[in-house]
Amino acid sequence: MTIFKKAAFVLLTVCVVSCSPTEKEMKPTNSYANDTHSYAKPNEAVAKHLLLDVEVDFEKEIIKGTATYTIESTNASEIVFDAKNLKIHQTLVDGKEVSFTLGADNPILGQSLTIPITKAAKTVAIRYETTDKTEALQFLNPQQTADKEHPFLLTQGQAILTRTWIPIQDSPQLRLTYVANVKVPKELMAIMSAENPKEKSDNGKYVFNMKQPISPYLIALAVGDLVYKEISPRTGVYAEKSMIDKVHYEFADMEKMVNAAENLYGKYAWDQFDVVVLPPSFPFGGMENPRLTFATPTVIAGDRSLTSLIAHELAHSWSGNLVTNATWNDFWLNEGFTVYFEMRIMEALYGKEYANMLASIGRQDLAEEIENFHDQPEATHLKLNLEGENPDDGMNSIAYDKGYLFLRTLEETVGRDKMDSFLKEYFNKHAFSTMTTEKFITYLNAELLEKNKVQFNVNDWVYKAGIPSNAAKIVSDKFQKVEEAITNWKEGSLNATDLCKKDWNIQQKIHFIRNIPKEISIEKFTALDNACQFSSATNSYIAMVWFEQAINHDYHANNVDMQIENFLMTVGRRWYVSTLYKAFKRNDQLEEAIRIYTKARPNYHSVTVNTIDDMLGYSN
Ligand SMILES: [Zn+2]
Repeated sequence: MTIFKKAAFVLLTVCVVSCSPTEKEMKPTNSYANDTHSYAKPNEAVAKHLLLDVEVDFEKEIIKGTATYTIESTNASEIVFDAKNLKIHQTLVDGKEVSFTLGADNPILGQSLTIPITKAAKTVAIRYETTDKTEALQFLNPQQTADKEHPFLLTQGQAILTRTWIPIQDSPQLRLTYVANVKVPKELMAIMSAENPKEKSDNGKYVFNMKQPISPYLIALAVGDLVYKEISPRTGVYAEKSMIDKVHYEFADMEKMVNAAENLYGKYAWDQFDVVVLPPSFPFGGMENPRLTFATPTVIAGDRSLTSLIAHELAHSWSGNLVTNATWNDFWLNEGFTVYFEMRIMEALYGKEYANMLASIGRQDLAEEIENFHDQPEATHLKLNLEGENPDDGMNSIAYDKGYLFLRTLEETVGRDKMDSFLKEYFNKHAFSTMTTEKFITYLNAELLEKNKVQFNVNDWVYKAGIPSNAAKIVSDKFQKVEEAITNWKEGSLNATDLCKKDWNIQQKIHFIRNIPKEISIEKFTALDNACQFSSATNSYIAMVWFEQAINHDYHANNVDMQIENFLMTVGRRWYVSTLYKAFKRNDQLEEAIRIYTKARPNYHSVTVNTIDDMLGYSN
């Protein structure tokens, strides 16, 4: 599936220094979608390559340097970038200083940065530095790391945060290649979504090269006292010293996952697939930065039970990184396809029943999310309209789990063979390009449905609320056993001790805990905890779902209150902490939520802070 044209690489990389592309190559394609989350006017002038020269200053907690772009334009007299909470010092066109204009500051989008250009202009350079309001960056003190010796820096670009650490045309459809020269303190290692070092440099200087064009939200940097350990020649892990062996053990199946993925939908296009395990404040489970997935340490369970996260981030190497949502309204094209692909990888490695358990968990999440949006049914459409909103608000279970259910239903309707050849061709044909919902539907109708004379209610799925009646039924035998056990326990024919002796895997335990009936007595709930020791669970997923139930059941024995507080103080993974704060709020314990949040908030990344501030009505 590597249909990326090598000639284009050469052109784009060589252009950093000098080149004279033909008129045709200079012209933008005039086919960019309207992205309401970017000020850029790519149909007039567009950046195609970035040369980033920056230094990371841990004392001031800033990044400063120069972003130099190789540009393409029509007869445009200016080029427009996105910038948010940045100090812009100077702008240059082909090496000559020019004046620039910063537009009005929008709390979500930031500012437009407009730079005058001539028809012949080839490069635009921006000298800048970040500020203490830079949302993408999280500087961590040594206490917030695993080894507790050195500080750490991580970035998170998705959805529109790259503009907070690099002035850039920040729309997912505006792919670009990059080279970065990054200077960090010499005791630390820097790694990016690019070709990476496997050892520390002597002087703290690193050069990165991302030869394939990627979306701006996928530019990522991590700096810390990191080491690398190979799993296979093309897969490996980065982590702090005290974590590296555990991480290496946990993700031992990475090469097998890449193989399984390639067998499904074609060659892995990014050469190397590495994962860096970050400190626990990282706001997501994982982020699919090309060549280097960023991951939360909460999946290091010791038993490889939460590695579907890696399958998910790997799947993004096709859906998301290779074929990318053109705007954030099309986010389901990234996530729905990725969940579908993730399930297929997990099925290939661990069997259909295992994949069905994961899918069932997602199905329950989806039902709950649709219930959450009962006052706002349009938020349950696959295609969203996020104009005027933070695109981060569209990142919920709908894109993931309704997107998955749509594709699974489609698969069951057309048959797996046809589905697979359709998807393989879809990725192949659109590699290194972007996709709108409308373009996808046209392609789907022509290449799958009409070709096979199949009727399918695509528009109901994409443009209407809730779940259409033809949705695939997801059945898991192992979960049915759990449901039987719940009934027996509730009715008294199964006691807590026998329940805990059941040989269940993590997913079954999760399913059990999440489905503990609301009306269960506090005595029964306590007996369950005494027998299963859920309050002191070391698996983060089990701990999280159990803590939610503890809050729901007003349960306070076995030191669970302190466990919950400790969990919220250390972990910054948004899904986990928002589940717990939401539970407090739902159960009229807003005061307790705010008491803990006030202490924990400085440990969280801005992505998590924004969500929880809104949820709890917190103002600083
Ligand atoms: Zn994803």
